[in-house]
Amino acid sequence: MRPEDILAALDPEQQQAARALEGPVVVLAGAGTGKTRAMTHRIAYGVATGAFAPTELLALTFTTKAAGEMRSRLRALGVGTVPARTFHSAALRQLRYFWPRAVGGGAPEPVAHKAALTAEAARRVGIGVDKATIRDLSAEIEWAKVNLIPPEEYARLAAGRPEIPGVPAGEVTRLLNSYEEVKGERNVIDFEDILLILCGILEQHPDIAAEVRRQYRHFVVDEFQDVSPLQHRLLRNWLGERENLCVVGDASQTIYTFAGADPRYLLGFTTTYPNATEVRLIRDYRSTPQIVELANRILQLGPPEGRLELVSGRAGGPKPVFREFPDDIAEADALAEEIAARIAAGRPARDFAVLYRTNGQSQVIEEALSARGVPFVVQGGERFFSREEVRAALTTLRAAARTIPAGDSLSAQVKDLLSSHGWTSTPPERGGAVRSRWESLQAIVALAEQLETAAGELPASLASLVTELEDRAEHQNAPTVAGVTLASLHAAKGLEWPSVYLIGLSEGLLPITYAKTDETIAEERRLFYVGVTRAETSLQLSWALARAPGARARRSPSRFITQLRARAEQVQAPGPGRVRRKRRETRLRFTRCRICERPLHERTAQQLGRCEDCPPRYDETVFDALVAWRQQTSLQEQIPAFMVLTN
Ligand code: ATP
Ligand code: MG
Repeated sequence: MRPEDILAALDPEQQQAARALEGPVVVLAGAGTGKTRAMTHRIAYGVATGAFAPTELLALTFTTKAAGEMRSRLRALGVGTVPARTFHSAALRQLRYFWPRAVGGGAPEPVAHKAALTAEAARRVGIGVDKATIRDLSAEIEWAKVNLIPPEEYARLAAGRPEIPGVPAGEVTRLLNSYEEVKGERNVIDFEDILLILCGILEQHPDIAAEVRRQYRHFVVDEFQDVSPLQHRLLRNWLGERENLCVVGDASQTIYTFAGADPRYLLGFTTTYPNATEVRLIRDYRSTPQIVELANRILQLGPPEGRLELVSGRAGGPKPVFREFPDDIAEADALAEEIAARIAAGRPARDFAVLYRTNGQSQVIEEALSARGVPFVVQGGERFFSREEVRAALTTLRAAARTIPAGDSLSAQVKDLLSSHGWTSTPPERGGAVRSRWESLQAIVALAEQLETAAGELPASLASLVTELEDRAEHQNAPTVAGVTLASLHAAKGLEWPSVYLIGLSEGLLPITYAKTDETIAEERRLFYVGVTRAETSLQLSWALARAPGARARRSPSRFITQLRARAEQVQAPGPGRVRRKRRETRLRFTRCRICERPLHERTAQQLGRCEDCPPRYDETVFDALVAWRQQTSLQEQIPAFMVLTN
């Protein structure tokens, strides 16, 4: 793409970020304002202008889904060879490569689940090992490691840490030591070790550090509010003395503090790098004003730190709908019914997402959608690339890519090849394993169709499909069948859908039972904000008063819902005194038309502030004023808590 075409797809503030190719850059902006878009276009612009080669830049983010999303946006901009990875996958590649030189032998495989190691370590130090305690202890081990707190330092902090029932604070220090011992004996490493050990290697082996720094000259990090002290240290090691770092983020979307996320790195970026280019975006391109208004209210009800309110740049849409149901099944049935009807009316299934706080909540929705024949995909479900049918299909596709000549259409070739594996043009009637197998194959067919439409100059071929699948396998970025997305709020970050259903908004689910402190409640509220801001046009917020029909235990609506409703009522139904006062002010303020400046005589025109035949510019005026204010005031003035946070 030509540089000017890349910039033409951005607004002036986004262009400012894209043009700042050298030195530190920070983009601070709320959800849907185009941060990821500005970042991917900045990369494409840098490549197009020759500022850096595609492989000299490393784009980082935090979830495999977000990394996949970034890669597909980069591919669409013609810079698909830029590596876009999670911190963990980028670090693991380097660790595997440098381990033989720095440590000797091959790098041990990281274990994804700490539970068994924690249980063994706990047994050795004589701590009771029920499931809940192991979960809490594993989380505490992770907390200490991502915050770079060694056991001896932990001993000093232990008294101030949240209590783990049945475990005296002093015991956790012994557990941290014992956990490291168990790992050493079994020759395994955990996920935090990937980053910790790599930091150690880069800090102790200047030759290796220099080699990595020669390879990567520029770094960009999306969702920078989620960076932990450990990830930040690794980033500093990668950078060395250089400052070619561009970060984008939104402190109101910090939802990984349990994994060490610390928004102070984002908010204090200009303190760390005083010469940084700072860009702020406030125009929300994703959601309608109705959704944006709700999102702003959620923020206003929470603490002010790092809050960046949004202004919708889109045309109006329907108001968000609040719905209460007697139980989970009624909630699932109602939304499945509605989604099925909307699909029957012509809307594609991929336009819809159902979002929830805990993965366990998807089961009842899955059943309700299956019963109505609605296709869906559960994010974070079974590992796609380890499925037997996927491995077999890949073998067939690889062999065919070598022998069968291209251009028949790719999808027709793929359908033909996969029909020998059980693919059919219509989904099987039967559910269970047969259906799940079909869905895997259909996901590959859908990917082939996607490549065909996105191919641009090069025709999509079997070879390009195989490369795409291999790349996705390496990044655990499964292709999906075109269906309704079912995802946890954590997994939904950074993504967007025209219609979003947020379910289970009751006390105990959101906020979750174990969120008890002010900080954890604030994080639950941010999760709610993340959920609401995923919606483009329609949004439904619902909760159920019981788990199952006739269940004794009753739930109450989430405090977040109750607060929003209380506030909405206050706004909609002001007392008589307020109404009168407001009217008088309005009459006094608008004696002339704000557009043509002619005197206004009619009362309705005075209230409106313009003649009836003048175009309605009210929203634009407010919008422009807000944009100007945001540009003229420093962040410190906008966020009074900024200094407190960065000190
Ligand atoms: P989040 O905080 O949720 O990650 P974000 O700030 O990264 O959001 P994007 O995902 O980059 O936002 O953009 C939101 C949507 O708005 C996308 O569909 C994007 O293509 C669109 N968008 C952003 N900027 C523009 C623009 N200048 N012109 C047109 N569309 C835009
Ligand atoms: Mg984003």
